[in-house]
Amino acid sequence: MGSLKRYQHYIGGEWVDPASGEWIESSNPYSGQPWAEFPRGNQADADRAVEAAYNAFTSGDWPSIGPTARGALMRKLGDLIATNAQELAKIEVQDNGKLIAEMGAQLGYVPQWYYYYGGLADKIEGAVLPIDKPDTFNYTLHEPLGVCVAITPWNSPLLITAWKLAPALAAGNTVVLKPSEFTSASAFEFVKLVEEAGFPPGVVNVVSGYGKEIGEALVSHDKVAKVSFTGGTMSGTRVNENAASGLKKVSLELGGKSPNIVFDDCEMDNAVKGVISGIFAATGQTCIAGSRLLVQESIHDEFVDKLVAFAKTAQIGDPMSLDTQVGPVTTPPQYEKILSYFDVAKEDGAECVLGGGKPDDPALGGGWFVQPTIYTGVSNSMRIAQEEIFGPVLSVIPFKDDNHAVEIANDVVYGLASGLWTQSIRRAIGISKLIQAGTVWVNTYRAVSFVSPFGGYKRSGLGKESGQQAIKDYMQTKSVWISTATEVPNPFVIR
Ligand code: NDP
Repeated sequence: MGSLKRYQHYIGGEWVDPASGEWIESSNPYSGQPWAEFPRGNQADADRAVEAAYNAFTSGDWPSIGPTARGALMRKLGDLIATNAQELAKIEVQDNGKLIAEMGAQLGYVPQWYYYYGGLADKIEGAVLPIDKPDTFNYTLHEPLGVCVAITPWNSPLLITAWKLAPALAAGNTVVLKPSEFTSASAFEFVKLVEEAGFPPGVVNVVSGYGKEIGEALVSHDKVAKVSFTGGTMSGTRVNENAASGLKKVSLELGGKSPNIVFDDCEMDNAVKGVISGIFAATGQTCIAGSRLLVQESIHDEFVDKLVAFAKTAQIGDPMSLDTQVGPVTTPPQYEKILSYFDVAKEDGAECVLGGGKPDDPALGGGWFVQPTIYTGVSNSMRIAQEEIFGPVLSVIPFKDDNHAVEIANDVVYGLASGLWTQSIRRAIGISKLIQAGTVWVNTYRAVSFVSPFGGYKRSGLGKESGQQAIKDYMQTKSVWISTATEVPNPFVIR
């Protein structure tokens, strides 16, 4: 095991071994071979990291670095990420098996979150209020919360880190970041850039390990003010329960079973591409995957034929190759989970019109590959239509008319995203209003931006990331009252 790259926790500006003295092996999803090891954090490491973040919040340089200077630090960090984007992208691919084309583009875009929130840092203004009391001056201050814990999953580690870290730091908080134990390498590489940008020690700390060990210890820690979590609905619910006992602020970005709805007046070739991008990009491992295709009955057969023909051309292979379109699945449990849903689909009675198993290409070696898969004859009550599979598995469900489409679209516990394919502006605006989801894309899919709020309705989460509101969600408002009266009036009566 001597050849594995060994990482340490980054706490209070220092690289330290885990208290357990144990490491977790991380494997490359393409080869199935281990390549790195991450510290197996526990309660003691959580305590140490939160203490470091708390000390940095209450003493040292950070509290006296004003919002304008914080903004400058964040822009510097953005520049450093931009300079190192391709290197960071390669590390992500090695760790999570997503395409270099996708991760390169993602890392090229990540700096925007640091620029945007760096710019916002000194534009969060309090107000002097026209108070209805004589001889009284009242104003508001928007202040940071304190120590924020950011817990990220394995599918887009540094993009999701930026969604949490950028508003948290711009607001003046300090952070303990816990990446997924499957994909911690990029967070440890990234924090070197945080240090290089000049953030004081303890402002950003990175610890790794299992969610049930160090994750829970962080969420339950008394000195943590906010937890921001992205991951599965079960884990997110547990995080919410643990945070509730300490009355912590929580934001949760959880799963989805998003409908991609194709109407009979769509531009069919574009809609085919939109559906492909919704379910096969990133090997379907995205919370926003358009995993339910709702297609109008009158065009069902023609659309499915075109879709299958296009999907068959997808190049499966080495994620480091720019020609590859579908890479491996990121983790062995995820691989097993997807394979198990092929059996569920059979039991459900769905018809498999593409894929439905492991690819038999020997060139794919020991990697965790599954075939892009399409099921027709799916009814919305089937498990494959209701449960998040988080893989390249599409359920096709026919609908009659607009009302029927909306009824099926909303008939799930989730509400993260949705897509509409139509040329009618009346339909686009009308149905966008009726869909119970935090994002509606019309004639596009999988678009995200630092400017636009992102987050789920229903069981897809709590709170929003990105956009102007997100920085306020890392702040609290104080009301300051100053009396200019010469005498304190009757002390037994409320003012
Ligand atoms: P998890 O939700 O378990 O993992 C996400 C992050 O949360 C990881 O860093 C994990 O650590 C941590 N975590 C897990 N349990 C806790 C806990 N009790 N307290 C604090 N932190 C915790 O994702 P899985 O890998 O188990 O995937 C399961 C399913 O979740 C997937 O099949 C998919 O459906 C969904 N998912 C959704 C994502 C999204 O973007 N919304 C992303 C990833 C998965 P560790 O990895 O060490 O357990």
